[in-house]
Amino acid sequence: MKERVLSGMRPTGKLHLGHLHGALENWRDLQEKYNCYFFIADWHALTSEYANPQIIKDSIWDMVIDWLSVGIDPKKSTIFIQSKILEHAELHLILSMITPLPWLERNPTYKEQLQEVTNRDLSTYGFLGYPVLQAADIIIYKANKVPVGVDQLPHLELTREIVRRFNYLYGDVFPEPEAILTQTPKLLGIDGRKMSKSYQNSIYLSDSHREIKEKISQMFTDPQRARKSDPGNPSVCNIYTLQKIYNKEGQVEEIAEKCRVAGIGCVECKNILSQLLVNALTPIQEKRRYYRSHFDEVKDIVWKGIKDAQIIAQSTMEEVRKAIRID
Ligand code: SF4
Repeated sequence: MKERVLSGMRPTGKLHLGHLHGALENWRDLQEKYNCYFFIADWHALTSEYANPQIIKDSIWDMVIDWLSVGIDPKKSTIFIQSKILEHAELHLILSMITPLPWLERNPTYKEQLQEVTNRDLSTYGFLGYPVLQAADIIIYKANKVPVGVDQLPHLELTREIVRRFNYLYGDVFPEPEAILTQTPKLLGIDGRKMSKSYQNSIYLSDSHREIKEKISQMFTDPQRARKSDPGNPSVCNIYTLQKIYNKEGQVEEIAEKCRVAGIGCVECKNILSQLLVNALTPIQEKRRYYRSHFDEVKDIVWKGIKDAQIIAQSTMEEVRKAIRID
């Protein structure tokens, strides 16, 4: 029996290079080794987008198409929509009864986001309880592993604490999920801030060739390099980070060396990168076109995923109801 892995993504807009290199490539590898469950976290999206739910509705299918187009394989992975499995909500409710409030209030992401996100009011019950819903999402499938970045480790630790508390109170029902630590390249957006749809600084998987070239040409490089004749420092340049992903090993080194002695200009370096990026995204975009014109196939994949996930979720909830004597 392969171990079970669970991961999800919030449908709050188009997917960009950060999603591809930060999550989806890793999912693609994991599905070769584990029994993977990947879900569209639409209820999670509602915690921040409650005033603008249309964006969630508009993003769900686009997101599934992106997943399929980058190689998430429905023969190897189960793809489903969170809100179609009502048992997530039931387990969330039960877990919220046993989760002490200070565990949630000390969550670093919660504090950070409350301060950082100024364009919407996140001081809601749902937003505070976000990690409890996340715990329910994971343990309802008795997932053994969860892929996380270092910054998400406290969330997973909270899930493990909730599991321990549940098992202590009601008997051993859930395994404690373990982290699969993922290394992700730090991708910056066009403006030098973290690539994020909320900053509108992203290169999207669906961008046209013209848009890709325009965006790359606007990207910040080494801020100290004002003229082509100035030597550059590739280690502080976001274009170089992308070169390392998209260019061949020997050529990456060559660019770095030339950059350091002002042997290559940023315009030329960006032109090389634009072409590499276009080459890399073209097959993904061809698959996007295929799935857009075979939309019934996409819907069938997701409906099958929902049915498969539901069987496990329902069986877990029967155990849970028995354990808490509400059966
Ligand atoms: S030459 Fe390339 S790596 Fe060097 S600063 Fe310019 S864009 Fe960055």
